Amino acid sequence: MEIQVNKVSDSLRKPIPQDASALGFGKYFSDHMFMMNYTEDKAWHDARIEPYGPLNLDPASMVLHYGQEAFEGLKAYRGRDDGIYMFRYMENLKRLNRSCERLVMPTLPLDLVSEALKKLVLLEQDWIPRSSGCALYIRPNIIAVDPFLGVRPSGSYLFYIIAGPVGAYYPEGFNPIKIFVSDKYVRAVRGGVGDAKTAGNYAASLLAQMEAKDKGYSQVLWLDGVERKYIEEVGTMNIFFKFGDEVLTSPLTGSILPGITRDSVIKLLQHWGVKVAEKQFSIDEVVQGLEDGTVTEVFGSGTAAIISPVKAISYKGKEYAVGDGNTGPLSQKLYDHILALQYGEKDDSLGWVDRIDS
Ligand SMILES: *Cc1c(COP(=O)(O)O)cnc(C)c1O
Repeated sequence: MEIQVNKVSDSLRKPIPQDASALGFGKYFSDHMFMMNYTEDKAWHDARIEPYGPLNLDPASMVLHYGQEAFEGLKAYRGRDDGIYMFRYMENLKRLNRSCERLVMPTLPLDLVSEALKKLVLLEQDWIPRSSGCALYIRPNIIAVDPFLGVRPSGSYLFYIIAGPVGAYYPEGFNPIKIFVSDKYVRAVRGGVGDAKTAGNYAASLLAQMEAKDKGYSQVLWLDGVERKYIEEVGTMNIFFKFGDEVLTSPLTGSILPGITRDSVIKLLQHWGVKVAEKQFSIDEVVQGLEDGTVTEVFGSGTAAIISPVKAISYKGKEYAVGDGNTGPLSQKLYDHILALQYGEKDDSLGWVDRIDS
């Protein structure tokens, strides 16, 4: 399938934000988007890049009522050598297809989507910020568009990719955040859709997120949905705890999102000879470890923030400090290493980085 390109006219181009420190996250969108349609008779068709703009959707479109959708989040980076780099992006596309399968949506032809992704990034390359820590954030999205009321899988879909320049995900930047353990709400349960990147998971998290914010915490730390005891993950990040000389993170049991940054952290730690395990551990063990000082570092991992150090955890009305409240050495090392890889500055012995402009 050919990708048609219909460029925006020069007079309609948007100004590209120049102040990298004011980018924030998810506020600006570039001039073009990729789109492709699916119908039962034609399968995926009409792959095209068009000027960025509103979608024309029937108000009965099934996604708007029943939430049948899946998305991804990935980045393109501008290196100091001017190269344009992407990090493990095929993992994002494979995960998108796994989310599609869970939501009973047609999977995407990944060769074509990979080509579309690169074509869009190259077309929008002036939008890729040059400051370290900033990137072009890319959001693929697939939505159910049958105009129909009634619960069943849609027969037609729209897939699109939008992009925009971003800075730090948290206003704190790479400074430690405070997180709030929810024992009132749950995010996902085994057998549900917690391991798919689908809109409903985030809608379901908003109330807990708001209550945490009101109490002065940036994010919710979720416990397992059944016993409300085992650590699962944070709003949009997986989470790691350094207990003594071992780093622990929750296993992929079906209710947490299998983060690509999580996987990269695990592989890097193994590569460095740091003990790391994917196993269940409880909030009580964490509280105990924070009190007796065996838990020395806590950090989240995700594409948006890369590594996000945690300085305090609130549980059942009590706040527990992590170490001395500063970013720990392992969190710092992971952040520096992954950032350098993503900007094409480190030897990529694990084969995670693609330069896409040459
Ligand atoms: C996207 C996401 C992550 C992180 O995944 P990455 O592939 O590392 O970006 C973790 N948890 C949730 C709930 C997410 O949506």
